[in-house]
Amino acid sequence: MGTPTPWHKGRVVLMGDAVHAITPHLGQGAAQAIEDGVVLADALSRHDNLDTAFAEYTARRYERCKLIVDTSLAIGEWEMGRLPGFDNVAATNHVLDVMAQAALIHPPAPADSLAPEKGRVRCHLRRAGNCR
Ligand SMILES: Cc1cc2nc3c(=O)[nH]c(=O)nc-3n(C[C@H](O)[C@H](O)[C@H](O)COP(=O)(O)OP(=O)(O)OC[C@H]3O[C@@H](n4cnc5c(N)ncnc54)[C@H](O)[C@@H]3O)c2cc1C
Repeated sequence: MGTPTPWHKGRVVLMGDAVHAITPHLGQGAAQAIEDGVVLADALSRHDNLDTAFAEYTARRYERCKLIVDTSLAIGEWEMGRLPGFDNVAATNHVLDVMAQAALIHPPAPADSLAPEKGRVRCHLRRAGNCR
């Protein structure tokens, strides 16, 4: 993931490529920027305190964006022959599955509801010796 949290300082908050620029392998850069906007608007509509709204926005976006950034990078490495054994098709399908889940509008569940899916992608990366 490109930019560590926090994604805000004072009244300034970052979104889109500014925090999670993505290689083109999954075609998700603009999609994620739009999702950022939707979640940020939702968080701002429910919290008067900017720090609270920005922190919630980041919490709701971070893992989803990280999955795409990390998987896109892995696909790129695989295309360049640097990640033998990486299952490109499974990883791509997995990301598309996760993107289709309604993990966007609602605040995150108390337990990390995407954990099993993240585990699956981590598995692909680990098999290829590139798990972080
Ligand atoms: C060739 C290509 C193909 C792509 N294909 C896809 C795709 O199929 N699907 C997909 O989802 N994503 C795709 N993307 C990624 C997508 O375009 C980006 O992820 C998305 O545009 C990011 O949006 P953004 O608003 O964060 O940044 P940007 O779109 O880069 O917007 C930033 C804006 O800020 C302006 N700006 C910069 N500095 C200043 C300044 N100092 N003052 C004022 N304004 C400033 C810039 O001019 C720009 O208009 C592709 C990208 C490329 C390059």
